[in-house]
Amino acid sequence: ATPLSVMVGTGKGARAGILIRSAEALETAHRLDTVVLDKTGTVTVGKPVLTDVHAVEGVEGFTEEELLRLVAGAEADSEHPLAAAITDGARDRGLTVPAVSGFDSVTGKGVRATVDGRALLVGTARLLADAGIAAAELTAAADAFSAQGRTPVLVAVDGQPAGVLAVADTVKDDSARAVAALHRLGVRTVILTGDNARTAAAIARQVGIPRVLAEVLPEHKADEIRRLQGEGRTVGMVGDGINDAPALARADVGLAIGTGTDVAIEAADITLISGSLSGVVTAIRLSRATLRNIK
Ligand code: ADP
Ligand code: MG
Repeated sequence: ATPLSVMVGTGKGARAGILIRSAEALETAHRLDTVVLDKTGTVTVGKPVLTDVHAVEGVEGFTEEELLRLVAGAEADSEHPLAAAITDGARDRGLTVPAVSGFDSVTGKGVRATVDGRALLVGTARLLADAGIAAAELTAAADAFSAQGRTPVLVAVDGQPAGVLAVADTVKDDSARAVAALHRLGVRTVILTGDNARTAAAIARQVGIPRVLAEVLPEHKADEIRRLQGEGRTVGMVGDGINDAPALARADVGLAIGTGTDVAIEAADITLISGSLSGVVTAIRLSRATLRNIK
């Protein structure tokens, strides 16, 4: 593209709330045939809310309130959005969040903590499995939550499965519309998340995304982009989190959600100020129009 058409395209983008960092990004966007979308905070609003507490019955069974109180303590020092949902949920139910004595966050899996002298594991099925805890009693509840698009948070106390909490996030108003518009432009869509496969599939179904890459650890998100590029795809990546930064940098065009983290914005080529996914559609249309002008 000529410098003038790039300037015009960049200016139009800025007026539409799309900040394009380079001429190269504007030029490459028209070739995108695949757009990979992070789930939490990108397709969804990213403000999850605690919806359910299921406590395992048994000799050492906790009441739902006792379980929630302990879990809220374990999550009090975590910066994960799920943690905020759980501590807020506990306070909303009138519980006082207890102090935590030992705390470890396990990236992409959950937390390990000591609360009231009890050892808690809170997170994915894999987190419990890694600790050698067979959580078969938790599977039915976890599957029921994830089938509804909720994220199950499994809990073990002192090495025993103790319960499952569910946290729900809502999809953004225009996510489905933006996905449909991408498909009409001939662009394929993929959802990419660290969350479990069933939850991701339920969210993908709600917005019409046909392909799901789930249970991807943060350090492997960029590998998934590389793999798609290896299949000959030209890949756009849309994300908001620190976890997404390497994938945003790796993609042919990285698009950051403007309401997301600074790290994601710095790694990306384009920033969608409003955070709405229709910005991805606008960016591709703008790129196509810019390139058409000079041919
Ligand atoms: P994402 O933001 O895409 O869900 P993450 O890599 O941050 O991905 O986390 C992957 C999964 O690990 C989450 O969906 C959740 O199930 C679990 N997890 C991570 N951190 C926590 C936490 N603090 N408490 C409970 N579960 C967690
Ligand atoms: Mg995210």
